[in-house]
Amino acid sequence: MSHNAPLSDVPLSDVLAGLDEWMSLPIKQQPNWPDPVRVARVRQELATQPPLVFAGEVDQLRERLAAAAAGKAFVLQGGDCAETFEGATADNIRNRVKTILQMAVILTYGASTPVVKMGRMAGQFAKPRSSDSETRDGVTLPAYRGDIVNGYDFTEQSRTPDPQRILDGYHMASSTLNLVRAFTQGGFADLREVHSWNSGFAATPANQRYERVAKEIDRAIKFMEAAGADFDALKRVEFYTGHEALLMDYERPMTRVDSRTHQPYNTSSHFLWIGERTRDLDGAHVDFLSRVRNPIGVKLGPSTTPDTMRELVERLDPHREPGRLTFITRMGAGKIRDALPPLLEAAAGLESTPLWVTDPMHGNGITTPSGYKTRRFDDVVDEVTGFFESHRAAGTHPGGIHVELTGDDVTECLGGSEHIDEETLSTRYESLCDPRLNHKQSLELAFLVAEQLSA
Ligand code: PEP
Ligand code: MN
Repeated sequence: MSHNAPLSDVPLSDVLAGLDEWMSLPIKQQPNWPDPVRVARVRQELATQPPLVFAGEVDQLRERLAAAAAGKAFVLQGGDCAETFEGATADNIRNRVKTILQMAVILTYGASTPVVKMGRMAGQFAKPRSSDSETRDGVTLPAYRGDIVNGYDFTEQSRTPDPQRILDGYHMASSTLNLVRAFTQGGFADLREVHSWNSGFAATPANQRYERVAKEIDRAIKFMEAAGADFDALKRVEFYTGHEALLMDYERPMTRVDSRTHQPYNTSSHFLWIGERTRDLDGAHVDFLSRVRNPIGVKLGPSTTPDTMRELVERLDPHREPGRLTFITRMGAGKIRDALPPLLEAAAGLESTPLWVTDPMHGNGITTPSGYKTRRFDDVVDEVTGFFESHRAAGTHPGGIHVELTGDDVTECLGGSEHIDEETLSTRYESLCDPRLNHKQSLELAFLVAEQLSA
């Protein structure tokens, strides 16, 4: 059965059977739930909960991503490495949304290109880990797998996977998305508010530079308004969500067959990606995501061969549908200039037009002598530069950027104009997982990307 074909002629029972095919395949990175009967009950309950996103929105995003793949737009994906339940506060969500809107303004204005905005939000709760367990002072407990599985505190009770967290994760995602929709549809994201997104943040060089851009935009809007243009459309902003589709006990119950198109949509998020550690060609995650209509991303690390990439295209985009498939490369600053060009060359022969996005974070992790996981801002910038250079040389489109960021003044990544150094890291290191760019570093990166885009 060709499972991405228009499904109107595929019997519903076959579609549903296909959605459970992953269960017979090798699977990685799932928790060892202590009580499988309870997990089954939770899955059933989750399957009866309302969808978080609608099929029509998902289809619209696919069109937007197709435009980006064709070089007519640029995609900005950003948010926490791991969202936490405790961190799902109004302030926190607002600062992240504001930061993404500000970055989008910098990119749109600086490079005169439409920007597709997407939060790594409202569902980014499950984490792949390099080991199933963690040992501290002779005590071994299960590794932290994200708030949707277990707690971060290093006690037996907290680290034991608890299926109630799957339902809690759904409700956290739902309230987060509700606020994101309010911010982006209710007037807050109106371009005429471009100045107010900067308020509350310190007057750093990046924010001052932003302020100058905002002034120019203001003047342009006032001029157009005076000339009689109707800016009603500016009031609302399209804002999409995405997360790593990792925890199958969440992703499968959230997947429903749409009554309009009779095709399966994962209604937990508009966009889903498969991580570097779970993208095995014959594994559960690739099979499951090949069957949903959502646009799908795949993370590609430096060891990805052209053959593997070709096979991923065959499995995830057999119909060569524009906007369907995004490759998110995370090579590392030192490797991207060697690792990316062969993939771009191989893709040219596939009649597939994947969207290419750079994740300049995950190939650049280091650990300081004092034990902090961090990244150098300069490495992040260097990987972005290598991404643009490779695309320019290959004649392909650099279509977007995927970053771990927060709207807060944390000190998790080294460098940037504030020169965060190893000593400073401990002053405000809050991530439970990977280090994020703080608000200023995010704006600085956006200015650099805008320069590359318009070069
Ligand atoms: C992540 O995005 O947090 C992640 C684990 O990435 P990757 O799959 O690229 O390692
Ligand atoms: Mn991460």
